[in-house]
Amino acid sequence: MSISNCPEPARPFDPRDVDPPPALRFTKPFMKRASPRLLQQFSSRFDSVSRYFTEVRGEVNIGLTTSYRGLALSGVKGGAAFEKLCFPPLDRKGLPSRYVMGHELMHIVQSKTEGLPGTERSCDIFTLARMPADMLDQPPIYLRVPQSARERWIASGALAEAAHLLAIEAVVMRPDNAKYICWWEKRFAEGAGRITGGR
Ligand SMILES: [Zn+2]
Repeated sequence: MSISNCPEPARPFDPRDVDPPPALRFTKPFMKRASPRLLQQFSSRFDSVSRYFTEVRGEVNIGLTTSYRGLALSGVKGGAAFEKLCFPPLDRKGLPSRYVMGHELMHIVQSKTEGLPGTERSCDIFTLARMPADMLDQPPIYLRVPQSARERWIASGALAEAAHLLAIEAVVMRPDNAKYICWWEKRFAEGAGRITGGR
């Protein structure tokens, strides 16, 4: 039976249907600052996040930064695409949040995708839109988020849910509305006020 004859109803895109996650290649400095157990936990978390960034496949280098919470580098090396993400030392900072992993993966997507904006704030919007709410384990980094919402982010799944749904709307409206980021900030602040009771 061909796909077009398949009686199964259309279903939403399921990121689990895609190619296997990227193969991680840890740099020596990164490995020096992590136990095998931490590296394994890192890989497992990274796999769960990279499902939502299907443009990033093949090999990804994972290096160390002591100055940033995350860093994404991409380009061409020896004629082949080269992608590297850097994170703080695991033995001191623990695992990066899923959100930070997603944000850095989104930077690689930005660099590979024509027509996508390349700013930090847009990176936050697209990351929020792509990752399901239950994986948004911290507030966005560069977007304006009320302090009360930052403080209660983890305790209230409703904040992540609102952030995610509004980000999808913002991404959809972007072609017609250059102020989609400000729109998200305003609408999120209103929604967060209702969720946190203005506290
Ligand atoms: Zn960034």
